Amino acid sequence: MMKDPLLQSSAAVLPGASLQKACKFLVLFCALHLSVTLVYYVFGGETTYYTERQHLYGHRANSTTGPLVSVLAATEQSATQEPTAPCPDPSPLLVGPLRIEFSVSVDLEEVRKTNSEVKEGGRYKPKDCKALQKVALIIPFRNRDEHLKYWLHYMHPILQRQQLDYGVYVINQDGDVTFNRAKLLNIGYAEALKEYDYNCFVFSDVDLIPMDDRNIYKCYSQPRHLSVSMDKFGFGLPYNQYFGGVSALSKEQFERINGFPNNYWGWGGEDDDIYNRIASRGMSISRPDAITGKCRMIRHERDAKNDPNPKRFDLIAHTRHTMNSDGINSLKYSVVKTEKFPLYTKITVDVGHPPS
Ligand code: BGC
Repeated sequence: MMKDPLLQSSAAVLPGASLQKACKFLVLFCALHLSVTLVYYVFGGETTYYTERQHLYGHRANSTTGPLVSVLAATEQSATQEPTAPCPDPSPLLVGPLRIEFSVSVDLEEVRKTNSEVKEGGRYKPKDCKALQKVALIIPFRNRDEHLKYWLHYMHPILQRQQLDYGVYVINQDGDVTFNRAKLLNIGYAEALKEYDYNCFVFSDVDLIPMDDRNIYKCYSQPRHLSVSMDKFGFGLPYNQYFGGVSALSKEQFERINGFPNNYWGWGGEDDDIYNRIASRGMSISRPDAITGKCRMIRHERDAKNDPNPKRFDLIAHTRHTMNSDGINSLKYSVVKTEKFPLYTKITVDVGHPPS
């Protein structure tokens, strides 16, 4: 019988069984290669795409698959993670003496633009390091909008260079009864703590600006007096026990003196009472030197409903007896309105009336 010449010739080139095996292996290999390429194309390509998009636009895609979600979650976490390294002390951003003047009026919109890192309500914290303190700045206030603009204009850049984790609280006394500065400061303390875990409180008059950013608006081991060298007093202290203008107390120090008095209505005496409280609890006053502590006050007429308090001398004489029952433990007020502005939080409060 004649053999098929085709079969005969192929059989002559390759042996039948090995040829079949080789072909199967090749097909399998190609199929595997194709599927691996496909998987990488679909998942690998998409991961890169979303990661880039997230980076550029700060949001992630709606539909994701399992492994993609974890890749995205990791990327997102590293983007929002808080810095853990403490900020250097002193801050390397400080520049020293500053030129402070009040001749040109301030455009708040400009201030907002030049302080774009400040968040709504006047909140800021450094991006690259963990601030050493969480500071609430409390400003007692009524009808001083022009002064507040200067304060915001000068203070925000200073506080950012000082690398503080801070918030600005303007405590606005509602109505037109006699002004009560110390009670407004107590309210600022209480209200700020409702919002954030502050551990330091800087109490600042709205018309005082430091002339040197090395005068750090933070707390120290003893209550700190910051406005020690005012232009108004010829760049010195009016008397040794003076504690007015700008001061800083840690949460612990503030609690130790039962906060500030609530019963000083009108101008004067409340800062002397605070000094007495500090001294009677065995603490001393910490101060910057007279050069670093220089500051300017905006000149102004005496405010309406803030006449010198004739009772202040008598009150100051009894601080040691009154401070346990009058302070943060007896504070009563009501919040009329809370407003979040780009550069500060304004809390309007009803402080009640002076005793008749
Ligand atoms: C008042 C203080 C005031 C100081 C400086 C004192 O007589 O009691 O409240 O800060 O003078 O003006």
